[in-house]
Amino acid sequence: MDFRETDEQIALRKAVAELGKRYGHDYTAPRALAREPLTELWREAGRSGFIGLNIPEEYDGGGAGMYELALASEELNAAGCGLLMMVVSPAINGTIISRFGTPEQKQRWLPGIASGETIMAFGITEPDAGSNSHNITTTARRDGDDWVLSGRKVFVSGVDHAQAILIVARTEDARTGKLKPALFAFPTDTPGFEYRAIDMDVVMPDRQFLLFLDDVRLPADALIGCDPLGSQAPRGENTALAQLFAGLNPERIMAAAGSVGMGRYALDRAVKYANERSVWGKPIGTHQGLAHPLAKAKVELELAKLMMQKAATLYDSGDDGADSGAVGESANMAKYAAAEASVACADQAVQTLGGNGLASEYGLGNLLIGARVARIAPVSREMILNFVAQFSLGLPKSY
Ligand SMILES: Cc1cc2nc3c(=O)[nH]c(=O)nc-3n(C[C@H](O)[C@H](O)[C@H](O)COP(=O)(O)OP(=O)(O)OC[C@H]3O[C@@H](n4cnc5c(N)ncnc54)[C@H](O)[C@@H]3O)c2cc1C
Repeated sequence: MDFRETDEQIALRKAVAELGKRYGHDYTAPRALAREPLTELWREAGRSGFIGLNIPEEYDGGGAGMYELALASEELNAAGCGLLMMVVSPAINGTIISRFGTPEQKQRWLPGIASGETIMAFGITEPDAGSNSHNITTTARRDGDDWVLSGRKVFVSGVDHAQAILIVARTEDARTGKLKPALFAFPTDTPGFEYRAIDMDVVMPDRQFLLFLDDVRLPADALIGCDPLGSQAPRGENTALAQLFAGLNPERIMAAAGSVGMGRYALDRAVKYANERSVWGKPIGTHQGLAHPLAKAKVELELAKLMMQKAATLYDSGDDGADSGAVGESANMAKYAAAEASVACADQAVQTLGGNGLASEYGLGNLLIGARVARIAPVSREMILNFVAQFSLGLPKSY
């Protein structure tokens, strides 16, 4: 076990941090208020190779792993300019297509995802299914060689500036009549695909959307790992589940990395302020009433980061079981711990700055809600605790 990063990882961390510093909170804040994506930063990060770090080299990616992609996301968030779609486009979708796409699908999607020129959104959540994704009803029916998708999705991020989307749907199994999951990737300008922004209280550049899929007609090869014989072929019952699970651990690791970065941003602001602000003739950071909660938040953040790095290291070493196994457990725990730690950092940072904690200039009031998102998405705190109770502790399934 080596807790030191390699020279390449240290250099990467430095390069991403420098990019983040050039953009930072001052660049992000007005765009977040206007709900505009961080397009310039996204493009530059893409050109610098930071978006496609985990994509195989043969598809113009960095050929590195989830550790490196998480590291990049952490550094951007720590600089106050996190890119939410890094969780979705390269981490979830890039992983699923790299591992399960046909050679044609890889060639079609991966180079664009790697360079950042193609942003691929990811839609699984449905209004009536919520956390219970086994209950999704977006259905793909076969019509000749085509697939026809119908259904609704909710809270899907970044669709307005995404060129493509990966939708989790279900196909009807001709033999059994049962609905079984299937993943489809297609351009966002496909006829029948509409979306409407949801008004959200959280102020961030990427908006969330309600999706309407009304008879979206897709060619046979939109189905990930498409099977030319269609749903009647003996395509393994669990093929799409395996595809979906492949995206879950990267998603959790990336969510954890974003939270760790946000926590660092909040702590940096708080510590700087506590060292400079003086109201009793000495810096307010002298008072243990402020120093200890900040120190506690730092400890919790470092512990969460360690778990995130463990999950990424295990993932990159090839253990990618989603429902069990060390990587699934550590990815879930990291996501949980990082969300809690970053909320604690943001809360204590607001407290440290007093009135300025809620002044827009410092960006901490908004960060409180931003950090809190990670308790809900991409998977809620309670669903992680359900996972840990069941798989780590061996308690009965509760739902
Ligand atoms: C900012 C943001 C961005 C998002 N981006 C995307 C995206 O890009 N793509 C996408 O598909 N989705 C996205 N989501 C949706 C997100 O994944 C869901 O909101 C999340 O999975 C929770 O589902 P829900 O909102 O339907 O809550 P519900 O499932 O209705 O849950 C409500 C509450 O009940 C709790 N609960 C539910 N079941 C149980 C149980 N068995 N035991 C204990 N407690 C339970 C939950 O933990 C939660 O606290 C996003 C959400 C947000 C807020």
